[in-house]
Amino acid sequence: MRGVGAPASRSFAKPVRQQARQVPAGPAGQQTIRRQNLGLVMQAVMEDGPSSRASIASTVGLTRSTVSSLVEELLSRGLLSDRGQQASGSVGRPGRLVGLSDRTVGLGLEINVDYLAASVLDLSGGVRFEQFVRHENRGMPIEVVLDKLGDLARTALTAVEQHGLMSVGTAIAVPGLVDAETGTLLTAPNLGWSDTQIGREMARRLGRPNQYLSVQNEANLAAQGELWEGNGRRWGDFVLVSGEIGVGGAVVVEGELLMSGAGMSGELGHLSVDPEGPACPCGSRGCLERIVGQEALLAAAHLDAEVGTSIGLPDGGVQALVERAEAGDPMTVAALERAARVLGQACASVANLVAPNTIVLGGIYAPLFPWLADPFRAEFECRSFVARYSGVAVVQSELGPAAAVRGAASLTLRAVCADPQLVDAVAGSG
Ligand SMILES: [Zn+2]
Repeated sequence: MRGVGAPASRSFAKPVRQQARQVPAGPAGQQTIRRQNLGLVMQAVMEDGPSSRASIASTVGLTRSTVSSLVEELLSRGLLSDRGQQASGSVGRPGRLVGLSDRTVGLGLEINVDYLAASVLDLSGGVRFEQFVRHENRGMPIEVVLDKLGDLARTALTAVEQHGLMSVGTAIAVPGLVDAETGTLLTAPNLGWSDTQIGREMARRLGRPNQYLSVQNEANLAAQGELWEGNGRRWGDFVLVSGEIGVGGAVVVEGELLMSGAGMSGELGHLSVDPEGPACPCGSRGCLERIVGQEALLAAAHLDAEVGTSIGLPDGGVQALVERAEAGDPMTVAALERAARVLGQACASVANLVAPNTIVLGGIYAPLFPWLADPFRAEFECRSFVARYSGVAVVQSELGPAAAVRGAASLTLRAVCADPQLVDAVAGSG
């Protein structure tokens, strides 16, 4: 299994030549410089679109011959493709253009409490495959769940490869504490799982041992999904509150996810809001998600908390909640108002600590936003003097429950674009 510790930044990485001087001389140092420069060329093409080798050289500050060699390697690894002759009229002799390959895709997978998901994105952000499958994962042997996820992954890969697409790696979103360096799920209270080598187990099931593979907390990946594939770049510094059976939280500052504790952040749902409240599998009481998580919300509205309700299927419980709220059912509207107030209280504390520009309600809170927004804002502004003073927007997630699995696919693409040597060279590309 190969991977990178930190997600690639959307921002342009500039100081390569300066870095080059700091890297030790010799083959190892030269190899490091080349890896960095491959990433720089990818960044330049991502930002500028189809470009000639000469214009890339000018952008990244490397010689034309160096850039030609880097571009050849990126063509051989299938990350760039030839886009034909540059139009005449350009400065200097027209060259051939290279652009991002439209064949390269990344696979995102998600294990949540009551469903599994797969999404395949291309380098332009296009969704080439996406599927959510109801699956009650609680109390299920881990091997059975991972086998099912492996089946879903193979279905996704087969579907996109039939269209000539090339998957360059996989990231997996999981609802719990993760050691991202080793791909280990340390504990997932809602699943009852601990110390599971998700990365190693899924690498074996995917049968692609040399490909990039990363395992991360689902709330952190959802925030990155919103940032990279949704509206996140318009929100400034934001906190994503993602409702499922659990409730995840993630903080993005200056376009970067705050990820402390080697990937163990994101557990907003275990903020205790009622010390005498219901017991939580995490060992505490009255955790936020026991009060405003999907199952608590459905129970408060007297709806069955059946499997798969978080994924918006036509017969799912969250959809039933939306329909009843639309019809003005008093019990449903009251349950949503109560949940919104508790959520607003919790987020007021978060805002006092983090002072974000925006709070984003995601996961199941996205389709329920029309009923949550007003009571949430009232409680939030009443309890957060930072919000009253600085003005914090409260908005609806665009991606909703799809944010984490799309964030996972996007992370894969960003990781290999930042370090193209994570992708093996392929025959016949270009
Ligand atoms: Zn808890």
